[in-house]
Amino acid sequence: MSAAATARHALADGTILSLNAGSSSLKFALYRTAGGALTPTLRGQLEGLGVSPRFVARAAGRVVADEKLPPGTLDHQSALDYLLAFLDRQFTGLTLTAVGHRVVHGGAEFMLPVRADAALVAALDRLVPLAPLHQSHTLAPIRVLLERLPDVPQVVCFDTAFHRTQPAVARTFALPRELTARGIVRYGFHGLSYEYIAQALPALDARAAAGRTVVLHLGNGASMCALAAGRSAATTMGFTTVDGLPMGTRCGALDPGVLLYCMTELRMDAAAVERLIYQQSGLLGVSGVSSDMRTLEASADPHAREAIELFVYRIGCDLGALAAALGGLDAIVFTAGIGEHSVALRERVCRAAAWLGVELDAEANARHGARISTADSRTSAWVVPTDEELMIAQHAQAYLATR
Ligand code: ADP
Repeated sequence: MSAAATARHALADGTILSLNAGSSSLKFALYRTAGGALTPTLRGQLEGLGVSPRFVARAAGRVVADEKLPPGTLDHQSALDYLLAFLDRQFTGLTLTAVGHRVVHGGAEFMLPVRADAALVAALDRLVPLAPLHQSHTLAPIRVLLERLPDVPQVVCFDTAFHRTQPAVARTFALPRELTARGIVRYGFHGLSYEYIAQALPALDARAAAGRTVVLHLGNGASMCALAAGRSAATTMGFTTVDGLPMGTRCGALDPGVLLYCMTELRMDAAAVERLIYQQSGLLGVSGVSSDMRTLEASADPHAREAIELFVYRIGCDLGALAAALGGLDAIVFTAGIGEHSVALRERVCRAAAWLGVELDAEANARHGARISTADSRTSAWVVPTDEELMIAQHAQAYLATR
């Protein structure tokens, strides 16, 4: 695989690779950029990294690779090498014009897409404590590519960036001003996903796109975002990715006094508290069964039911809070693994949101939408599959166009 002669080449006819590294997966998508348009040619993921890796790739919806690898053989670094070797076999003489990445935290300094170099990686490495499940994994492929393909521009897109439009009141903790000035504020995450939904909304519901919408990004990580005319006005995640909704293994919003109690009375150190709130809580902690919604929905264990109940309750409460931040509500949009696929969960959330004007169309919900509210529903409800990889490719393309 070779580097492109010039970045300009991307706009005429080139190839952009989008990489989206999660806590245990590496999703990717490859786009041709003929005539300025982005045409997807291949997408897939390496999942189960560090445990039981599996590689799946699809072209035009058809599976072109589905390989199970021996347990423990691939981590985030070697996953990228595996992917590059696959792309080399799949496309002889492939030239990458650019690689785009999702990075979870840009901190106070990085808002707009930026080209990666060693100094940027070092600066982003300092933010690892603010997103311990993700940040180091999202930096791993950048490091590998700086070494392997130093001439290919790597464009980094931040999950925090979309929320830069929020008013100060939505970003500020009630802490002494010195701490706020040091960047201890609410940043918000899942920004590439929300940006994609905001971009897709006008074609679905012009009133909601110009008005007040809450997007529910419900995956392993989960958050919600209030959109005012397509711009982020408030969100449930804060300084770190542990705030807001309960998630697969993260506790979500917690009385900070609980942490003090854990440290002073239960004698837990910082590492133990970090494990508690990021890895042992959420759906897993409450159910004692699994962090995976499919497993919980299939389980007869009453604790699994309680975990789902708590998840729905907290979504309902935060939906009310975000509607208050918007001064009303025109639409809600479900996205990500649970939001796109769980009929039962969407039904329960919509019922909890009846007081906000959501009237569910059960048949449309069973078909996964797109519109899952009745024609008369005062507030519309939608299912929109997110596409973070496309947003990454769009940002990479736009960045190169300005160089
Ligand atoms: P990540 O945050 O890791 O990208 P995803 O967006 O892939 O997560 O979402 C993973 C979650 O989606 C898991 O809890 C999984 O059980 C859930 N999920 C996926 N498909 C379904 C389904 N058909 N029904 C219920 N939950 C589902």
